[in-house]
Amino acid sequence: MSSAVHSPDRPFPLERTRNIGIAAHIDAGKTTLTERILFYTGMIHKIGEVHDGAATTDWMEQERERGITITSAAVTADWWQHEEEGMFKLFDGVKHRVNIIDTPGHVDFTAEVERSLRVLDGAIVVFCGVAGVQPQTETVWRQATKYKVPRVVFVNKMDRVGANFQSVVDEIREKLNATPVRILIPIGSEDSLRGQIDVINRKAVLYSDSEVLGSTYEIKDLDADQAAIAEEAYEELVSAVADHDEALGEKFLLEEEITLEDVKQALRRCTIANQLIPVAGGSAFKNKGVQYLLDAVLDYLPSPLDIPSAVGMNPDDEDEAITVPTTDSGKFCALAFKLWADKFVGKLVFFRVYSGVVRKGDTIYNPRTRKSERVGRLIQIQSDSHQDIDVCHAGDIAAMVGLKNVQTGDTLAAPGYEVVLEPPSFPEPVISMA
Ligand code: GDP
Repeated sequence: MSSAVHSPDRPFPLERTRNIGIAAHIDAGKTTLTERILFYTGMIHKIGEVHDGAATTDWMEQERERGITITSAAVTADWWQHEEEGMFKLFDGVKHRVNIIDTPGHVDFTAEVERSLRVLDGAIVVFCGVAGVQPQTETVWRQATKYKVPRVVFVNKMDRVGANFQSVVDEIREKLNATPVRILIPIGSEDSLRGQIDVINRKAVLYSDSEVLGSTYEIKDLDADQAAIAEEAYEELVSAVADHDEALGEKFLLEEEITLEDVKQALRRCTIANQLIPVAGGSAFKNKGVQYLLDAVLDYLPSPLDIPSAVGMNPDDEDEAITVPTTDSGKFCALAFKLWADKFVGKLVFFRVYSGVVRKGDTIYNPRTRKSERVGRLIQIQSDSHQDIDVCHAGDIAAMVGLKNVQTGDTLAAPGYEVVLEPPSFPEPVISMA
């Protein structure tokens, strides 16, 4: 990718942004998981890192008391991914941004669901480790399949009585007709959920009461049964990925050396192309596997550059298709996907930028009303705060304050830019080989 797409004031490259939704059957743990993600990412802003269990619990309580903004239309979380492979990527490393967009829980296919699918590039689907694939998730799953939204699965509640990771994986294959690959396998369940196997990195983590994050082990240091599960899962994963990915398939056939990076990149391509579904198991409640899941979001779900450019049309000439390239240097074009009344700030218009940048104070044009308005403030909602920002770049999500004449679904554009973004179509994704 050329660096030309990035304006100089962009905080970090667009490849490191993910716009995701979290979908779940009611009660599967979507709220708890979102809270955990915001807790970790929010905490990074405040204290940088946390290592011991007591501190985590206290912080969680404080966050709860202050009320995390998890019901917002879109929350921006920054996540530092450690470059070193393995389970424990703590809070230093490479900065990434995960925008979590609230997807409506409606079962019916509505315009609102369509719109939210339009602005996200991938999704975490949460299943309950006891209840497995439930009817409501089947509906959401089918919608996501129809719109080709790439997914990773989190099998939650592995600490609960009756939880069975493998049977949920089997249900994903049988009931959802998908090809799951296990990337994080719980060790034990119920009260004895004591760790997880990181299949690709061939490591394991075992928890103890005194540590939040547990300790890492090489697979060979696990007991024989667990080591066998880990080896089998690794072989199964590599062969599933090799079946779908030409580059890896060739190496596999020629019996060439396959590196961890080869496997990860190939799995990323297969996930973005909707051929494979990476599945991780854990417990949001006990915070087992949540950081790993965030890493999986970065590793396997697409960035805005991995999906096709948005397409719009000229409102005066419906036959004229306009490609809206994902680049900071393009003409500004965004989609208003949610209006929100905030008790402190007033009316917020949440939008996703498809092309160009928008700055506080800019005048923007609404091709539906044919009127221009001024952007009074730009805001990003973080774990528990509203952050005023000066600029929002291509691929990112934020909210505008001060607009009067905007409806959900409106295109917002540079003055004079006659373009209306089309409904979602999610054609075949552009798969980055990087
Ligand atoms: P949502 O309806 O999908 O948003 O689910 P919630 O996050 O509200 O969770 C539903 C219930 O399950 C709550 O009582 C949570 O405390 C509980 N819960 C969520 N995650 C876990 C988990 O990993 N283990 C256990 N035992 N309970 C959980």
